[in-house]
Amino acid sequence: MDILEKLAILTDAAKYDVACTSSGVDRSGQPGKIGSAVAAGICHSFAADGRCISLLKVLMSNQCIYDCKYCVNRVSRDTPRTAFTPHELADLTISFYRRNYIEGLFLSSGVMKSPDYTTEHMIQAIEILRTEYRFNGYIHVKAIPGTDNALVRRMGLLADRMSINIELPSESGLLQLAPQKKPEAILRPMALIRSGIEENTSDLTVYRHAPKFVPAGQSTQLIIGATPDSDHRILSLSEGLYDKYKLKRVFFSAYNPVVEDPLLPSVFSAPPLLREHRLYQADWLMRFYGFSAGEIVDAKNPNMNLAIDPKANWAIRHLDQFPVEINRAAYEKLLRVPGIGVLSARKIIQARRAGSLNFEGLRKLGVVLKRAKFFVTCQGKVSEGVVIDPDTVLRGLLSKNDLQMLPAAAGEQLAFTDVPDMVRVMGGVPVSAFGYLPEERVIQNAGKYEFGIHI
Ligand code: SF4
Repeated sequence: MDILEKLAILTDAAKYDVACTSSGVDRSGQPGKIGSAVAAGICHSFAADGRCISLLKVLMSNQCIYDCKYCVNRVSRDTPRTAFTPHELADLTISFYRRNYIEGLFLSSGVMKSPDYTTEHMIQAIEILRTEYRFNGYIHVKAIPGTDNALVRRMGLLADRMSINIELPSESGLLQLAPQKKPEAILRPMALIRSGIEENTSDLTVYRHAPKFVPAGQSTQLIIGATPDSDHRILSLSEGLYDKYKLKRVFFSAYNPVVEDPLLPSVFSAPPLLREHRLYQADWLMRFYGFSAGEIVDAKNPNMNLAIDPKANWAIRHLDQFPVEINRAAYEKLLRVPGIGVLSARKIIQARRAGSLNFEGLRKLGVVLKRAKFFVTCQGKVSEGVVIDPDTVLRGLLSKNDLQMLPAAAGEQLAFTDVPDMVRVMGGVPVSAFGYLPEERVIQNAGKYEFGIHI
């Protein structure tokens, strides 16, 4: 098999990993035009300074001794198998870099022979890149669960970012769908990377030129919708991972049903993309807006309201905490107002030092008044014509975008003539049109420990 055939197989096999962001565009080159956006294994990620960088996203090998039921590379699947040698992968990466196709590498792999054997191959490839080719660009590498600590450390000194995918949000899901993966084998390297980063940070304060260990931090991925785990479980787990393992990101991947198995959703069901989108919004609230997982969803309402973004949903449920006076409210309170983001909250704090703000002033600062007007007062007054009751607020907050993203069956429930009913139906109670489980089954599992984290 020549190297381009290997590349085609191993980039295609890597596409289900979302632990870096990808455009998903699939537009090939056209005569008379420059460039193509065909899905050939180039994905995009963001550097610490906000730059968008393109990465070659590829597997070392799609050979795997494990049989994770949801995975296209599992051992029991009949599919062409191949593997790069470390030199092939390093050569390919550097030649793509020199042609300006990519700025970095995102490397993962199936488990060839054993986790240690696979990791040694990946390390060799990265070592060739770093030492022989003196490649100084970005490298994101997946750690294989169960790898020896010494190898994880070696890899951490070569890569910028490492990630270990938890994949399934519950131990029971892991047991059913990926029985060869043990929680301990996933969490041990995660803890090792966390402590390695902490030690390295303190070393660097003393020895400025000490080698850096995973300088861009670590991340993980959770598959959404392959198991009946609720949003409450997923967000509580994410919160625990941020706290305990200091992850930079938890990525959510809507389960794409490519495998027929009685334990998995049917191959004819659509990936829960809207749910994935809401989870990313909730994750954003936890990381930048001071929300806890328990404020967004709880054991009583274990799933998010898909019809509306989680911040607006929280605000509607807590109308008693509004309106807030824009000229006096603390930064944390401002962040809770739909239509006010981190940037506009900072601008409000700064601007009101110079004088009292009114609604026109808020608009100029970038506040989305269409949303914020239901939740704020300026100089003690509400915006002209605004009535604050749950129905009106909900009508005002649902964007066209929100409605367009809803699955057709759920969209039918969104008749504006029936708004109170919609709140009741969609206020966190699972709706069969969204493919959620009945609430009681989710509640049964609430309050347990998963992955050593109380959920
Ligand atoms: S270990 Fe990874 S590559 Fe192998 S079957 Fe499981 S998910 Fe797929």
